[in-house]
Amino acid sequence: KPAVQVPDRTDIAGWWPSHGSTDDKYTRGVVGLATGSDNYPGAAVLSVAGALAGPTGYVRYAGTAAREIRERFPSVVCTDSVGSAGRAQAWVCGSGLGTDERAAAELRAVLAKPVPVILDADALTLLADGSMARPLREREAATVITPHDREFARIAGAEPGGDRVESALQLAAQMNAVVLLKGDRTIVAAPDGTAFANPTGSVALATAGTGDVLAGLLGSLLAAGLPAPHAALAAAYVHGLAGRVAAGSGPVVSPDVADALREAVVLATR
Ligand code: AMP
Ligand code: MG
Repeated sequence: KPAVQVPDRTDIAGWWPSHGSTDDKYTRGVVGLATGSDNYPGAAVLSVAGALAGPTGYVRYAGTAAREIRERFPSVVCTDSVGSAGRAQAWVCGSGLGTDERAAAELRAVLAKPVPVILDADALTLLADGSMARPLREREAATVITPHDREFARIAGAEPGGDRVESALQLAAQMNAVVLLKGDRTIVAAPDGTAFANPTGSVALATAGTGDVLAGLLGSLLAAGLPAPHAALAAAYVHGLAGRVAAGSGPVVSPDVADALREAVVLATR
């Protein structure tokens, strides 16, 4: 059985990016999000909300939900495509993106960026047809994929086996990507054989849109310079705590999880 590390609050606090007194919005990191579509503008809103709770100083949004994002988040700089978005130190791609030609073009643009990238949801569906295999293989910066079991099956050909750590490690090695395999006990597996299990988590997260929030937060941590496996585990840890915080005031929907992230960051890192 592969060895799996279960980080605790002290590990997360130690990994979490801290800013110095001379930092500015750019040195804290710029995160870009290519998420949402005309059919799923909410996924864009949720992923941006996740990114805004992270340590970066600047959030860019590229996509068709710019109007919704501007209304809710005045600090976010919006463009309609990745090509016109300017620089970011990490990109989040796929949550609610759709799978049409526009979505595929945005995914290709993101994969061509020489910075860490997170591929979620529809980006994973687009990956599954194999046409993105080469751009993925040719990436030098980190790639993180964030499948739930059905998305895992689309890419790997079968759902994770009984040993979820082993399944995630196999896919990580095959794709040369860090795999964040979602579940009640989320697994993070790296191509070098490192594996983590997240000890937080809450069944309150089993509701539509929470994965989009997680993708945005993870993007912020990557843009702030955290190594991909640590970024993925730290995001899952804080996201799990946010589920518990949100559940404290009744039935949870995903915007509540986004709202609870700030308190969860304080709980995890103080
Ligand atoms: P998604 O399916 O992309 O919206 O992501 C769902 C999120 O909720 C992931 O972060 C999962 O780890 C989390 N989640 C789903 N079901 C459970 C559960 N039973 N217990 C804890 N977390 C869960
Ligand atoms: Mg999802």
